[in-house]
Amino acid sequence: MTNKELQQRREAAVPRGVSNAGPIFAASAKGATVTDVEGKEFIDFAGGIGVNNVGHCHPKVVEAIREQAGKLLHSCYHVFQYEGYVALAEKLNALTPGDHAKKTVLVNSGSEAVENAVKVARRASGRPAIVASASGFHGRTLLASTLTAKVMPYKAGFGPYAPEVYHIPYAYCYRCPVGSSYPGCKMQCAELLKKSFIDMVNPESVAAVILEPVAGEGGFVVPPKEYFPRIREICDEFGILLIIDEVQSGICRTGSLFAIEQWDVVPDLLTSAKSLGGGTVISACTGRAELMDAPQVGGLGGTYGGNPVSCAAALAVLDVVESENLVAKSQALGTKVRSAFEDMAKKYDCIGDVRGLGSMLALELVHDKAAKTPAPDIAKALVAKCRENGLIILSCGHSGNVIRTLMPLVISDAELEKGMSVLET
Ligand code: PLP
Repeated sequence: MTNKELQQRREAAVPRGVSNAGPIFAASAKGATVTDVEGKEFIDFAGGIGVNNVGHCHPKVVEAIREQAGKLLHSCYHVFQYEGYVALAEKLNALTPGDHAKKTVLVNSGSEAVENAVKVARRASGRPAIVASASGFHGRTLLASTLTAKVMPYKAGFGPYAPEVYHIPYAYCYRCPVGSSYPGCKMQCAELLKKSFIDMVNPESVAAVILEPVAGEGGFVVPPKEYFPRIREICDEFGILLIIDEVQSGICRTGSLFAIEQWDVVPDLLTSAKSLGGGTVISACTGRAELMDAPQVGGLGGTYGGNPVSCAAALAVLDVVESENLVAKSQALGTKVRSAFEDMAKKYDCIGDVRGLGSMLALELVHDKAAKTPAPDIAKALVAKCRENGLIILSCGHSGNVIRTLMPLVISDAELEKGMSVLET
């Protein structure tokens, strides 16, 4: 079957709302290379949208899946429990920030992890409202897309949305929400949370603030070091819980196991997904034990939540994180990519900003460096041209003008060089 034949079948069978990705159909993948149905190879700078930090089909993950599939493929955890679920919960409780007692519920996607975090926060606090960020993305289920601010394509026509969700601007220094600049700004963007308690929402009704430590879909925006400590302080002042969404930034992507560690801030609830499962379907909400225990029996989880095969894969991923020192790998990869991006920014006028954390790096493209006019047209053309030339790369950002890298952290030097060369060309 050729790409063209599959494209025709896809147009008849799959709704357009799912994807407009170019007509390339993957047949197999290994490490950081994807091979299509016609045998053409692509360097994967998207990592399956941040899912493949340990690389495609990591042998240890594949072996763990095989072994588990032969023993126990499925048991709904509500009905018949199994060790893998408990072992993964124990690991996440130990590895997420903070020394307090924690518990973890396992579900199937980033959106569900977020939904469960919100449910726990509401149930534990008895308060309804949630404050999220204007640059945030938290998924496509109805509550998760309510938390997501961007309307197109995530929200238009899908409402009505859940009430009691409020958005504040994010710490987007390149396009400062208060028209100032760091560090002279004195973190006025963090103070906008407090200001929202006057303008938008009674703080006594707020269960939680949910933020990504690095805004992923929002454009790989990294807040300054004072931002999250100040947000934490404000939350504490008003008895509001802090949910940190690490669905995209977690599992070593930013040069630490979880990005929020780099601000030295301890959230009350933390969501993880994507690279946690190494390509299988799993996500987690980990939080303070007393909060996690607030919902009644049966109120959390679901039929497939923490499926035994996905638990085995996630445990293998966390082993690989340690045995292959992925934190250090992410830092080293980030240094290389950032330096290549900074060289490009000196040469090409369309690169307005180079930013990111660890190996979660991006280029913000503009038409005019001084006016910072977003250039989504250049980003779109670049993504398409890269595909033609064997590189899978993605855009993001509010206007789609940011080029981001989420390549597997195990990418070889040869694959990295090849990908960078395609991008620059
Ligand atoms: N939260 C963040 C920060 C994400 O980046 C994403 C997906 O990109 C989600 C939640 C939703 O995850 P999923 O697509 O697995 O539902």
